[in-house]
Amino acid sequence: MRANCWTGRNSVDVLDVPDPKILNSRDAIVKITSTAICGSDLHLYNGYIPTMQKGDVLGHEFMGEVVETGSGVPNLSEGDRVVVPFPIACGACNACERGLTSVCENSNPNAGIAEKFMGHSPSGIFGYSHMLGGFAGGQAEYVRVPFADIGPLKIEGDIPDEKVLFLSDIFPTGYMGADMCDISPGDVVAVWGAGPVGQFAIASARLLGAERVIAIDRFPERLDMAASKAGATDVINYTETSVLEALQELTAGRGPDACIDSVGLEGHAASPLYAYDRVKQAARMETERPVALREAILACRNGGIVSVIGVYGGLADKVPLGAFMNRSLTMRTGQAHVHRYLKPLMERIEKGEIDPSFVITHRMPLDEAPRGYEMFKNKEDGCIKVVLSP
Ligand code: NAD
Ligand code: ZN
Ligand code: ZN
Repeated sequence: MRANCWTGRNSVDVLDVPDPKILNSRDAIVKITSTAICGSDLHLYNGYIPTMQKGDVLGHEFMGEVVETGSGVPNLSEGDRVVVPFPIACGACNACERGLTSVCENSNPNAGIAEKFMGHSPSGIFGYSHMLGGFAGGQAEYVRVPFADIGPLKIEGDIPDEKVLFLSDIFPTGYMGADMCDISPGDVVAVWGAGPVGQFAIASARLLGAERVIAIDRFPERLDMAASKAGATDVINYTETSVLEALQELTAGRGPDACIDSVGLEGHAASPLYAYDRVKQAARMETERPVALREAILACRNGGIVSVIGVYGGLADKVPLGAFMNRSLTMRTGQAHVHRYLKPLMERIEKGEIDPSFVITHRMPLDEAPRGYEMFKNKEDGCIKVVLSP
């Protein structure tokens, strides 16, 4: 089959690779109909996540048609349409029982490597390094889905792929970012990053009742989408305005009730600290550029919540712990526990409360994945979200 493979730093290639096979009774094989490129894929592309190997099949946002099931997958049959959550989860361990599927204790066969970096291992993830399981991803014609008896959501009816594809990752991720903010009526929420994940964090904060949602980025087309499609009430271009000053002004000096970091480890800034991070990151002395996280902590009102859905990989410098501790802040974070949001968010789509396809700016065949990665990375041609069709 054809699959988009990681071939080194800043390089992917669509290659012929062996078809996936059922390995365990709880596996299913899915023929991919739509798949997308995520900001998390850029961290792999840009070489910031360790334990990638040449030839690894990328992709963790995908949906398609079931073509084969193991004996332990009674819930699915050949021909079913499914959306598959990006974290791989067993459904039965202590973490899964608590609904924390992105930290499933049973789905990462390489947990020992992750433990060395992180103390304990999170779940396995499709197409996301050997440290997180070495699973082949879904930017391909076919994929093997482990624990298919509890993961995939069956799509009934003829709702188009583009409306439900993002249930695999970015819609639940943005929603979890807002959910972690314990939003009450009247709340002000600020969102760093107006990429696809930020767009869904903004839209979800509005769905959950925030009165004002402030979007922060530097790309005008992303800020425009935040205001016109996702529902942001205010936007800040951080290259034109001091974010901290603007947020003070918008909140009568108090700061937002909650701050969502949907930027992660590849943050950008116009300040001298940015040069410091770039140098340390290039020398591999620091793994992150935690620009947005630092600002989110400093901006948040006393006693407020900092919700981190941007991905971090390792160690960060100069995070203002003094502000965090002395001002009674709470931090909540995680790879999205996609499984628990699938049904409730599907219901919101069915009721017409949101149409997630609003983030798509580019569609291309799978064979053009290398061009898609370059466009998305460099924000060429107003690129915000790329959907690939095998
Ligand atoms: P993206 O790269 O398109 O978006 C990131 C945005 O942040 C860009 O628009 C960029 O201009 C903006 N940005 C950079 N520095 C900034 C700053 N200092 N202030 C404000 N904005 C800034 O990627 P995406 O697909 O939207 O993903 C965003 C993050 O979410 C990534 O780190 C990704 O890995 C992560 N992610 C997490 C999960 C999860 O489960 N927690 C799931 C999917 C993606
Ligand atoms: Zn993703
Ligand atoms: Zn589990």
